[in-house]
Amino acid sequence: MSEESEIIVQNLIELSKELEKNAQKEEEGVFPRENLKLLAEHEYFPVFIPKPYGMGLPARTFVDVVKTIAKASPSTAWIYVTHVAAANAFNAFANNTLKEKHMKDIAEGKLLIGAAGTEAVGGAINAELRTTAELQNGKYVIKGSKSFITGVGELDLYLIIAKVPNAPKPHVFLVDKSQVKIGQKFTPMGMKGISWGELIVDATVDKDNLVIDDSLKFLGVLGRIGMLGVSAISYGIAEGAFEEALNHVKNRKLGNNTLASFEGVQIYLAEIAAKVEAMKQLLYHAADNSDKMPEVLKARIFITENAIDVIDKALRITGAHGYSNSLKLEKYYRDVRAPMLHFQTLELSKKVLASTLIQ
Ligand SMILES: Cc1cc2nc3c(=O)[nH]c(=O)nc-3n(C[C@H](O)[C@H](O)[C@H](O)COP(=O)(O)OP(=O)(O)OC[C@H]3O[C@@H](n4cnc5c(N)ncnc54)[C@H](O)[C@@H]3O)c2cc1C
Repeated sequence: MSEESEIIVQNLIELSKELEKNAQKEEEGVFPRENLKLLAEHEYFPVFIPKPYGMGLPARTFVDVVKTIAKASPSTAWIYVTHVAAANAFNAFANNTLKEKHMKDIAEGKLLIGAAGTEAVGGAINAELRTTAELQNGKYVIKGSKSFITGVGELDLYLIIAKVPNAPKPHVFLVDKSQVKIGQKFTPMGMKGISWGELIVDATVDKDNLVIDDSLKFLGVLGRIGMLGVSAISYGIAEGAFEEALNHVKNRKLGNNTLASFEGVQIYLAEIAAKVEAMKQLLYHAADNSDKMPEVLKARIFITENAIDVIDKALRITGAHGYSNSLKLEKYYRDVRAPMLHFQTLELSKKVLASTLIQ
């Protein structure tokens, strides 16, 4: 890692104590505005956004940053990842007028951006798309509703996927928050601070707001960076769970023995340690190959699934302490399910990776 990246990650470890303090509000469904402000003030938003708007640092730095945020506040890490993935996809395809208008503020975290593709009717494979964009008097009129969207009512800009009559492929448009409304809000199992819900779109935008006329190309970039990011979240949570469980079993005494002295507990510790190390290595491998979808998918598949197993084992050796909210494990267990679902479900990731293997 470069000296610059090293310093960035070291400073973030210090800052994460602040992030962790604010994270308690996540559980009450509070959007992590304070944490995002801290990350913006300390210039963490530009890390993985290409130059000239961002710092354009390597993907290894990005995953280290995400992992460190996730250990302290998973919901903050979730918003950070969805923002950085959307920012990269926007930067890859938007015209210069749009980029000049927004990219600097997006890169600095002054404007929060997200992508809204999912619709209740379409599901994981976008089987159906009902949001439409029609050209009327030189402007696009976009109408529809998106479901299960991160950051509703909190983000500044949304990248909306819509069907354009007679066009072969769905298009992606940039829409300002003033042109959308919040529909139904959902209570997630974990990641309770992400303001998750339905987005009702009723927007009239300039032709320039068309980002790309092929949503699959857009989703390729969004998904690759998003899935690298959610893998880093899962790894961060798993590492946090490991550290917490280790600390607990070393300190809890039953009579004259610590939990850590029991062989049954040690076997679980060894299994957890091995898996966490494997996750780290695979995450760095994916980061070093972040432009190759199959390598990102391998990491996503292994890490997001095994993070659940790691926390499950950490819960077994921490007894009622782990099951209660006196440790972070029960929260981690709920939070860590989200990375298996978004950008692409874990099952579809397996299907896509398999299709590259059998070509
Ligand atoms: C925390 C969170 C945040 C999210 N944020 C956003 C966001 O910001 N923007 C956004 O656009 N979306 C967002 N989503 C939506 C997410 O991308 C979808 O939940 C996901 O694509 C799955 O769609 P679905 O929930 O309708 O599942 P379904 O389509 O109902 O799928 C259910 C199950 O069936 C499987 N399945 C479906 N079709 C097939 C098939 N053809 N072959 C094999 N298996 C199949 C799936 O893999 C899954 O296991 C978010 C989701 C979560 C959980």
